[in-house]
Amino acid sequence: MLTFELPAARALDSRPGYRPFRATVARVLELSPHFTRVTFTGDDFDAFAPHGLDQRINLIFPLADHGLSDCGWDDEQPLPDGHWYSRWRGLPNEARNPLRVYTVRGIRPEARELDVDFVVHGDGPAARWLAGAAAGDELVVIGPDALSINSGLGIDWHPGNAHRLLLVGDETALPAIASILESLPADRSAQAIIEIPDAADVLPIAHSALVDVRWVPRHGGPPGSELLPAVQDWVAARPEIVDSTLANAPQTITDPTGPDDFLWDVPSAPTGANLYAWVAGEAGAIRSIRRYLVREVGIDKRQVAFMGYWRSGKAND
Ligand SMILES: Cc1cc2nc3c(=O)[nH]c(=O)nc-3n(C[C@H](O)[C@H](O)[C@H](O)COP(=O)(O)OP(=O)(O)OC[C@H]3O[C@@H](n4cnc5c(N)ncnc54)[C@H](O)[C@@H]3O)c2cc1C
Repeated sequence: MLTFELPAARALDSRPGYRPFRATVARVLELSPHFTRVTFTGDDFDAFAPHGLDQRINLIFPLADHGLSDCGWDDEQPLPDGHWYSRWRGLPNEARNPLRVYTVRGIRPEARELDVDFVVHGDGPAARWLAGAAAGDELVVIGPDALSINSGLGIDWHPGNAHRLLLVGDETALPAIASILESLPADRSAQAIIEIPDAADVLPIAHSALVDVRWVPRHGGPPGSELLPAVQDWVAARPEIVDSTLANAPQTITDPTGPDDFLWDVPSAPTGANLYAWVAGEAGAIRSIRRYLVREVGIDKRQVAFMGYWRSGKAND
């Protein structure tokens, strides 16, 4: 994890970890057929905590008729108290701006810049906003507040000192996987398996020599359909990770939900674990990968973090 110093020891433990930041589009860059990077700038992005990794943020999009409703974005006092959320919830439907979850792909507080890599897909408020995004457009980012000691909230990568690292995800998880891989020390090995819509969607990741990335294009197949077979191949080549004790006496697993009703379970790997798996993407695909790893392979469920980032056919309202 990147370390940073809290500005002038002004951190307050009573201050919420996240707060609204007004953001303006500085640049829009097409990275590949299905990825567009939007770089935002904001006057107070120097107070945006630069943890990186898989840290999630909320983006609040303007409405065509109403623009951005006032939830106290600019009020000095209510912001630290987290009042924006109850004001946002209390807005009438027609004035409540859509909120969607994204990942910090790059943060440069000194330049007051934030990169978000958007998947280009069919429909939804975020997809529609992206299709017309241009320099000067405004939205609100709910992001980690460097003045809060709780700014690490929203990071779900907790591998401890696990011997092996496995990261599995579809294109929505690519920004998180890329940031995590780029943060790993040079002597830490890891395997990533990333499903992308098309072979042309392979993006550069600045990882060390001990990291291996397997890209699996799905070429029009259902989202997530290439991930389970790729994980099964990886396991088949490593019989030593199969725990026959657990595989023969399957662990009880439920489908817990986390923030905003997403399929979610993000345990921290126990000390000395032989494997830590981080799995994120379309909820149905992620559920089957977790079931395979835990019930069939016999990996202790405390070593498998899984996150449903989106649901096929359902808006992330
Ligand atoms: C922690 C977290 C981090 C995330 N990080 C990123 C990120 O960095 N980049 C990113 O692009 N996404 C990311 N996502 C996923 C993103 O929040 C969803 O894709 C979101 O649904 C997009 O909102 P929308 O308004 O475009 O579509 P919605 O209104 O939510 O959905 C409309 C329709 O589009 C479908 N849909 C939604 N997303 C996709 C997709 N990716 N491909 C195909 N169909 C889709 C839905 O199933 C639905 O039918 C993240 C999600 C989480 C929970």
